[in-house]
Amino acid sequence: MHRRCDSDHLLAQGWCARIERVLVFGDAIGTGEDTLAEQAQRTGQVPLVDYLVLGDEPHLVAVECTKCGARYFDRRNACASCFGDQFKTVPIDNDGVLRSFTIVAHAGPGVEVPFVAGVIDCGGTSVRGNVINVEPDPDNVTLGMAVRLATYSLGQDDNGTEAIGFGYEPVGAAAAG
Ligand SMILES: [Zn+2]
Repeated sequence: MHRRCDSDHLLAQGWCARIERVLVFGDAIGTGEDTLAEQAQRTGQVPLVDYLVLGDEPHLVAVECTKCGARYFDRRNACASCFGDQFKTVPIDNDGVLRSFTIVAHAGPGVEVPFVAGVIDCGGTSVRGNVINVEPDPDNVTLGMAVRLATYSLGQDDNGTEAIGFGYEPVGAAAAG
């Protein structure tokens, strides 16, 4: 079922592989009534990661251990903290605070630099994500700054399915794209 990806762009190949994965496993953590495959067919969009839920108000979802409350962004069979095996899906706040960041100046081919890799505290849950829609320099990116989830297009595959990624933009930043 996987469509061959004609692009030799490394990043594009990466998300092609992701699309295949989410189409196969997308409903594993129960993000809604729609499977991601159905969502892609209806909206023409597919999230880059399966913990990103698209729609009117895009947001992240985590799986939470019902025993100890540890949260994970990938599917788990057992909790790394307590070995519990029961999980529920919980939505993550879109608003957060930048707790740490790195301005990445060198990366593999196909990755635009510099960019800002960050750890964002979203209502007590740590999320790794890039800080986007901002000049990637220390004048504009500061610890403790308020940020909010933002999505962006990574491009389309040959069938017109659009891959959607997420990052965090400074609150009050001009909407870009
Ligand atoms: Zn646990």
